[in-house]
Amino acid sequence: MAITLPELPYSKDALEPHISAKTLEFHHDKHHNAYVVNTNKLIEGTELANADLAEIIKATVGKSDKVGIFNNAAQVWNHTFYWNCMKKNGGGKPTGQIAERIIKDFGSYEKFVEEFKNAGATQFGSGWAWLVLQDGKLQIMKTSNADTPIAHGVVPLLTVDVWEHAYYLDYQNRRPDYLSIFVDNLVNWDFVNSCLK
Ligand code: MN
Repeated sequence: MAITLPELPYSKDALEPHISAKTLEFHHDKHHNAYVVNTNKLIEGTELANADLAEIIKATVGKSDKVGIFNNAAQVWNHTFYWNCMKKNGGGKPTGQIAERIIKDFGSYEKFVEEFKNAGATQFGSGWAWLVLQDGKLQIMKTSNADTPIAHGVVPLLTVDVWEHAYYLDYQNRRPDYLSIFVDNLVNWDFVNSCLK
């Protein structure tokens, strides 16, 4: 049971002008695909050959002899989740259950935005910023490189990729601008709500 590259949940130009078709072409077809290809190569013939992605991630986290498998498998998972976190004409204030939970746990939508963008901006080097559910409470988290909340028993609700390959063609070094655009124009709150259930 090989790991497969899922299709993007929208066309490559759907997120323009915020994220260009060129960025999605490289990010999905080259970067995401490479993680899939590498994962399959690394698990071939091992006891993980028939495991699903989440099982592979949980079986390899923190194991020094399986860093390559963990990094590639976690990046496959993170990217699929990230695509689902965005949609055309998304962003802005949430609706539904997540809207109430954000007020309850952060005090206001604005405070959530500040903390989420700050996590993305201050992640040194490559990584991810997350809204997660941990111990029954919404929290902001950042992870380095390929690391992922699901490896640590934390429920991810929203993520933004802050590896340079996610934004460099469109924003060059302006990571904070990419984060603002992500929050204001791209977040798929329906998907976030679906992760709360
Ligand atoms: Mn990426």
